[in-house]
Amino acid sequence: MNGAVAGRLRGADDAIVPPDARAVLRIDLDALRANWARLNAETGSAECSGVIKADAYGLGLEEIARALTQEGCGTFFVATLEEGRRARAVQPGAVIYVLDGLMQQAEEYYSGFDLRPVLSSLEEVADWAAFCARIERRLPAAIHIDTGINRLGMPATEVAELARDPSRLAEFDLALVMSHLACADDPASPKNPEQRRRFDALRAMLPPTKASLANSGGVFLGPEYHYDLVRPGIALYGGRALEGRPNPMLPVVKLSARILQVRTVEPGETVGYGAIWKVEKSARIATIACGYADGFLRALSGPTGRPGPVGHIGNYQVPVVGRVSMDLLTVDVTGVPETLAHRGGWVEVIGDRVSVDDLTDKAGTIGYELLSRLSRRVHRIYAGNEG
Ligand SMILES: *Cc1c(COP(=O)(O)O)cnc(C)c1O
Repeated sequence: MNGAVAGRLRGADDAIVPPDARAVLRIDLDALRANWARLNAETGSAECSGVIKADAYGLGLEEIARALTQEGCGTFFVATLEEGRRARAVQPGAVIYVLDGLMQQAEEYYSGFDLRPVLSSLEEVADWAAFCARIERRLPAAIHIDTGINRLGMPATEVAELARDPSRLAEFDLALVMSHLACADDPASPKNPEQRRRFDALRAMLPPTKASLANSGGVFLGPEYHYDLVRPGIALYGGRALEGRPNPMLPVVKLSARILQVRTVEPGETVGYGAIWKVEKSARIATIACGYADGFLRALSGPTGRPGPVGHIGNYQVPVVGRVSMDLLTVDVTGVPETLAHRGGWVEVIGDRVSVDDLTDKAGTIGYELLSRLSRRVHRIYAGNEG
């Protein structure tokens, strides 16, 4: 690596960034582990799992699964079979549930990689039972019961049918009964206790086994939501689990991008697509290597004539001006010394001072979307991965 070209990245433990890295995502595995430990402590004797679907919310399924395992996490939830296979490859001893449920004709994929389907209907229960009977192995699975989100999960009528004929459960090992909260981010929502009551009524109709209801938000709704196992995702990654409350989790990600060019723009000129930012006084504009194809959502652009979110160069605030484009965005660096705002320098766009949630609050979306859409094109640095 050419040391003269490689830049030192503020906040990245002075890690040398390769010269071809145009945007850098720093993922703090120590913070991730501390967040898991915090959630685990919060839930007392309940087991704390890790939800690592969607490439661990964009942060890298393998690295995140390894780090969580080091901290003591033994159960993972993924969305897809492919994610399950990847998690199994790095975690031979873990329990891995597939939230998609049982994909048709894919039974051997589950048994082959020791993955547990989260069965969402009587049909899936029947298919899994038939497969287990055929191979003469009582393989584990979870049953997902719907308590009001009306997305995946068995409706109450199917649970009642199952209760009338428990022989349908004889061929496999019912390891977990779970449900999912629709409004866990809002502690005041009457939907939460309502779903909890329905969950209690429905799971009582099934053979006794472990139960799970809480996602990240659910962890903070109190011990009556914890049951035997909790399933946090976003809180592990430093995201906000409850609306309108201070976020107790440590930030896990920092996103910085390189300055490609700085130019002076004269009054009356405009910046970027749509000419939505008009320069009033002579300004210095830096174009940085981060756009919506990197995961910096176009919706984060400021409204016409107004600046968007602020990034940082050192301790200087630099507002995003003009529209975020595919590969680039523009920031106003007029007040920043040229020794900091220059070609090859760095702008931090997500970090301790501007969180993922700060950004998405203004863009009409949620931290989950921004994180899970961070592009693989962004160079990744995993800090604290020695364990
Ligand atoms: C995504 C998901 C979770 C994790 O949700 P967070 O809000 O990120 O904690 C838990 N359970 C199920 C069923 C999910 O789909």
